[in-house]
Amino acid sequence: MNSSRAVLDDGQGWTYTTSSRLHRRFFAGATPRNDLGVGMFSAPHRRLNRLTGEWLLVSPHRTARPWQGQVEDVVDERRPAYDPTCYLCPGNQRAGGARTPRYSSTFVFENDFAALKPQTPSGAHNGDGLLVAESERGICRVVCFSPRHDLTLGEMEDGAIRQVVQTWTDQYIELAGIDWIGHVLIFENRGAMMGASNPHPHGQIWANERMPNEPARELRQQRAYAADGGCLLCDYLTVELKEGERIVCRNERFVALVPFWALWPFETLILPSEHHGALPDLDADARDDLAAILRRVTRRYDRLFGVTFPYSMGWHQRPTDGAPYSEWHLHAHFYPPLLRSATVRKFMVGYELLAQPQRDITPESAAERLRSIPDD
Ligand SMILES: [Zn+2]
Ligand SMILES: [Zn+2]
Ligand SMILES: [Zn+2]
Repeated sequence: MNSSRAVLDDGQGWTYTTSSRLHRRFFAGATPRNDLGVGMFSAPHRRLNRLTGEWLLVSPHRTARPWQGQVEDVVDERRPAYDPTCYLCPGNQRAGGARTPRYSSTFVFENDFAALKPQTPSGAHNGDGLLVAESERGICRVVCFSPRHDLTLGEMEDGAIRQVVQTWTDQYIELAGIDWIGHVLIFENRGAMMGASNPHPHGQIWANERMPNEPARELRQQRAYAADGGCLLCDYLTVELKEGERIVCRNERFVALVPFWALWPFETLILPSEHHGALPDLDADARDDLAAILRRVTRRYDRLFGVTFPYSMGWHQRPTDGAPYSEWHLHAHFYPPLLRSATVRKFMVGYELLAQPQRDITPESAAERLRSIPDD
């Protein structure tokens, strides 16, 4: 076999080119089979999520289908700068009895209704190897991005977003420093569609003893890739920058792109262009660039359908159990549910719950749409 131009066929209509190491490792099948005629990516195909190791079905032809299903109400989004009934606004009483202080930038407090608690009796249960349970300790915090009730991340000024980045960094350092904390997840659920219970711009931090499922999957994938040398996301970013068509925007130290394997219609991945494992590894310039790209991405989202774009966003950082995890590449995922307008969302049902995830519009066309929106 000529290793520089080898072509493999898996017997399922997929052609794998091994002409380049990167293409072989990431985009197995990136070379269209001639007999597909119109090009493989405009016909139904599946793509491999290299970060999780799971396949995703892409059905580009379905975007033409008529929609007679559920449409969401467009919520009147005009909000006051201060809402006397909002428990996250400065000075107001919270349901648990505590009072939110009169804070002036970001404000962090322990969640009054935490899903995990630091004082949890330790124990394990094993019923014949089939009924398995373990106690789990954790700390849940709420991060108010701004005292202003009406400002989203994209509407805040760069300096204020930079303060949010600094708060996330400080929180990661503090929680990672607790000896029994093995993982810290910093995330935001934005919009009622994603289950956010309060419109005041805020995020959450859940820190707990053991690795949750998603980061554990990504750790396995990054570790397996690193065993051959190199970093999965460093190499992936090299390919994406070379191809260019899924890049949404970039600055000197950060890149935002729609991943090749994106599941959600306008999903994005934000990652540093150099190898860093966690927010504290970034220097001041990189944190500035991160604040700037967050603002640009969330502005594009808000302008895409003319609404405050709902999403779940979160940071995947190096685990915090004390091991080095040098293979881990810091990144954030944005998972927005909206599909074709402010009122039509993507559902994860049927085939997706029971077989595998599926999307209609291609990641390339989603990236093109996001790229075409001004972000200043
Ligand atoms: Zn508020
Ligand atoms: Zn890397
Ligand atoms: Zn991730």
